[in-house]
Amino acid sequence: METTLIILKPDAVQRGLMGKIITRFEEKGLAIVGMKMMTISEELAGTHYADHAGKPFYNGLVGFMTSSPVCVLAVRGVGAIAIARSMMGATFGSKADAGTIRGDFGVSNSFNLIHGSDSPEAAAKEIGLFFGEGDVQGLDRAIESWVYDMSGGDPE
Ligand code: UDP
Ligand code: MG
Repeated sequence: METTLIILKPDAVQRGLMGKIITRFEEKGLAIVGMKMMTISEELAGTHYADHAGKPFYNGLVGFMTSSPVCVLAVRGVGAIAIARSMMGATFGSKADAGTIRGDFGVSNSFNLIHGSDSPEAAAKEIGLFFGEGDVQGLDRAIESWVYDMSGGDPE
């Protein structure tokens, strides 16, 4: 099982798209195991996007991410990091495929609605940045054995 860090960015919150986006993850079969709203500080945005420091879009990105509240989610499932990235679509809303979150709900390149961790290392780092101890739940879902084939012992 993997847990990935999803941020519904300020444009998603302002446009009233939180419910629709969260529903997509729930309907896919991924489990929501952490969720909160917050306003990201400049310091936190800088740490989260440290890899992008110095790039032409960096200042705009930090300004955008700190401009209005976000909704932060911890989302769990087998392969959840890659699954969430494919559900998000390509970075730019203008290029993202129809059927993806960015492709269906946005046309902007920088205001692209959603962040998702891009590797297990990034996910662990980002969950530690945005959630405190005890904020991410152990969730024993009653439906788990219908979401996954458990006949071999492990979720397939
Ligand atoms: N971004 C931007 N202009 C660019 C590239 C990225 O405004 O040319 C913003 C965009 O909001 C993106 C974020 O910076 O989601 C992080 O960029 P990254 O390349 O990591 O894209 P992601 O992993 O979010 O798809
Ligand atoms: Mg990225």
